[in-house]
Amino acid sequence: MALLPILTAPDPRLKKKSKPVETVDTDVRQLMDDMLETMYAAPGIGLAAPQVGVLKRVIVLDIDREEVKTGPLFLANPEIIEASDEDVSYEEGCLSVPEHYSDVVRPAKVKVRYLDRDGVQQEMACEGLLATCVQHEIDHLDGILFIDHISALKRNMILRKLLKARKEKERDEAEGKPAAELEATDRAHTL
Ligand SMILES: [Zn+2]
Repeated sequence: MALLPILTAPDPRLKKKSKPVETVDTDVRQLMDDMLETMYAAPGIGLAAPQVGVLKRVIVLDIDREEVKTGPLFLANPEIIEASDEDVSYEEGCLSVPEHYSDVVRPAKVKVRYLDRDGVQQEMACEGLLATCVQHEIDHLDGILFIDHISALKRNMILRKLLKARKEKERDEAEGKPAAELEATDRAHTL
């Protein structure tokens, strides 16, 4: 297994639509395993392949909360086949939008159809944080970030801050300064 570098916004690869996998073969399983390791190390509770620069419809999740413990989940070609009329708001964060959080409204419950790590078709009913996380990750496969669900004003402010932080990091690296410590991320909100 290997840790993969996580892309951060604004990066054009995060805005692209990913392609379905034809079969869950050894290469796809290797990608899933590397993504899971990368997600745990970040740390986050969900990761989509485009976040590591691979434009394939593959996501991994592991939610470990009192009300829902999923264990590691590997989803290829995930599709939402049912969504509740009832919505819920959750404060989301993203490994590709580091240190920014915002409330996003989504359907409270969804049913998702996908191929598991063995290539077997599965259906999963999701609610609570799992529903939020699955929808957030499937959005990544369509080039959508959680900041695309909030006001343009707030989105542009976040993107400007991310660009500024990146420039400062590049300048510090060029000057040989040690990297600034990132603030501890809240794993529960980093999808
Ligand atoms: Zn994300």
